[in-house]
Amino acid sequence: MRHSWPEDTQFTRVVLEVEDNVCTVCGAALHICDHRRHRIFTLQGPVEVVCKLAHCSDRQCAAHAKTRSPYAETALTLPWWLIGWDVFCWVGHRRFARHWSVPQIRSELADTYQIPLSADAIEDAVRRYQTMLAARQQDPQVVAAAYRNVAALVLSIDGLQPEKGHETLYVVRELNAKRIWFAEALLSSSADEVRRLLIQARAWATRLGLPVHLWLSDKQDAFVTGIAAEFPGVPHRYCVNHFLRDLAKPMLEADSHAKVTMRRKVRGLRAIEREVLQQRRRIAGETPAVAPARRPLLLHHRRTSWPRPYPSRPTRLRMLVRLCWITVALCVAYSMTIRADRSNRPAYAWRRPWETFGLRSNATWMPTVMAARTLNSSAWPPVSTEAWPMYKRNTRSSVSTCKSSSVSRPR
Ligand SMILES: [Zn+2]
Repeated sequence: MRHSWPEDTQFTRVVLEVEDNVCTVCGAALHICDHRRHRIFTLQGPVEVVCKLAHCSDRQCAAHAKTRSPYAETALTLPWWLIGWDVFCWVGHRRFARHWSVPQIRSELADTYQIPLSADAIEDAVRRYQTMLAARQQDPQVVAAAYRNVAALVLSIDGLQPEKGHETLYVVRELNAKRIWFAEALLSSSADEVRRLLIQARAWATRLGLPVHLWLSDKQDAFVTGIAAEFPGVPHRYCVNHFLRDLAKPMLEADSHAKVTMRRKVRGLRAIEREVLQQRRRIAGETPAVAPARRPLLLHHRRTSWPRPYPSRPTRLRMLVRLCWITVALCVAYSMTIRADRSNRPAYAWRRPWETFGLRSNATWMPTVMAARTLNSSAWPPVSTEAWPMYKRNTRSSVSTCKSSSVSRPR
């Protein structure tokens, strides 16, 4: 389906002309007969490619009816494509190198490059990219270049079923250059079908002109017979992974059997456990139940049987000592509270222990003093910020207390 471009789309116009000026048949000059406009998305924005089409000017020439278009167009995009090569490669790279999903690619194209492609269009591009990549990977020249420094081939074949009921994908790999040669999904794993792949592998090895030193596969009959027939004399080693898995099979079966036997033997264990629990509950019911069945947090007993009726005398003493320690710790912590009293004493200062209980400190009285100073600021001299000693404890009202303090010890 053709893409309908919005009216206000700003295109970058690229005009291309036919590379040759003269007809290759008669040598006459080429005439421009038409223009073809091809609009595409690129990563740099929408582009309108204007191709000037030409044909031979001589009506008698055999090439007169043949229209020629500029080759340079294929360097930007292919005919009927909506995207340029840059977008195409971007999509393929994100899909196969980064393993992005199609919706993710679609969102990124729309957000970053403002290219509104549908999921179908991206899937098409991905499929084309895959085909091109496979063709490139299997290109004889590329393969020959990859095997320039390889002396011999070690081939392997294996089948993988993505899901149950799906076709099995057979993959032939070469292990010295670590290269996947080709892969094909086969409907059946019959010897004839598999042999076709082995024949293809032999053709590849022949084309490369390299000897096959080893074949590696599992012990599937089709592989064993096929490799022996197509590669006579080539050693065929069984895959270590498959070998170990097969080796472990009898062990797994024996283990499973042992588990069943063990369960059968200890089947009555639950009934015994229940009986023991009931016995314990009966014993607990006979003793004076002060403590509940739950283990108390503070108590630590040497006895292991539960529930314990009442804490013993040494335990109670230990609890008392612990309670005293906790009280002392709380007092010390309270003494260390921050005292910010707007004075030239450091804001972080230790509260004196008697201040904790006697509430005798300038910080305690400060709000009242400040209120009084606001009422009659001229009458009040500056307030001392030093704490009072304990023997000067005053029982009068707060305002008068502070007044006498400031008068007796002016700054
Ligand atoms: Zn001509």
